Amino acid sequence: MSNLPLALRELLARETVIALPQIVKRYRSGDGTVRYVLALPAAHASAEGQAAKSATVEAVFMPEENRQTICISTQAGCAVDCHFCLTATLGLIRNLSAAEIIGQVLIALEENRASLKPQTNVVLMGQGEPLLNYEPVMAALRILLDPNGMAITPKHTTLSTSGIIPGIERLGGEKVRPKLAISLNASSNEQRDKIMPINRKYPIEDLLEACMRYPLRPWEHLTFEYVLLGGFNDAPEDARRVAKLLATLRAKVNLIPWNPGELPYKKPDAAGIEEFRRILEDKGVRAFVRYSRGQDVMAACGQLALLESAAASPFEQISPAQ
Ligand code: SF4
Repeated sequence: MSNLPLALRELLARETVIALPQIVKRYRSGDGTVRYVLALPAAHASAEGQAAKSATVEAVFMPEENRQTICISTQAGCAVDCHFCLTATLGLIRNLSAAEIIGQVLIALEENRASLKPQTNVVLMGQGEPLLNYEPVMAALRILLDPNGMAITPKHTTLSTSGIIPGIERLGGEKVRPKLAISLNASSNEQRDKIMPINRKYPIEDLLEACMRYPLRPWEHLTFEYVLLGGFNDAPEDARRVAKLLATLRAKVNLIPWNPGELPYKKPDAAGIEEFRRILEDKGVRAFVRYSRGQDVMAACGQLALLESAAASPFEQISPAQ
């Protein structure tokens, strides 16, 4: 760019970087899902003025018949400490910059260029609590959702939160925003306190009030995610309580059977899962069972913790130079 003044070129060379995250490893699941382990060099973070240490995060590419879904991380690790989530075991390493968040989408699309379907869904459900890294997440979303940017539609983009009320309120005021999903996972405060310590700060009744006030667009509904932890929150009375909690909201529930990982919860049984769903539906709450993709390569919900996966085959490791 020799038409720029020399001093500006020198400043740009010194202080900016144009690069994608580097793929350290790819794990391919039998169901087509690919989990990418991505190295984020220290320099990426300096533009946002955060601690510029290097970090490693994960993104997951899930191909389907007519679309692909890309699950991205917004922080390296996470401070929220949900007890069913392996990412929590890492603690918060650092926030990602907008470039690092967008870079995960770009790299997943680039890697799978030969087989892309017309529709791309992006879900902010990887490592981190997006609403605790608000500015970079919104900067990334504005580029993702801009028709002159990556042109992904708001209907195909979902931000998932553990229930950070100030962030939900702020998001509701944004001109450009994704759909909102809330990780509920319990039918009472007593239960939610045990698995999501954030509930002590933002208890269920306050969270649902914030949801009531949230300005849904005409086509939009809220999604509540409910990880079914066998023997803990999957009883019929839990389903009845959840139905009561959500009765007045324009909402649907995604039931996610617990992915057996390294944490001490049981896999819920199939009949119990179906009964839970049926109780919600009978009480007028739309409910779907979502089986996580990529379980064999530790790419499923709550499993992103940079773990090696014995079952992952084939396993590829590439050098940073590639
Ligand atoms: S579920 Fe989400 S918010 Fe909770 S610890 Fe895991 S990454 Fe953080």
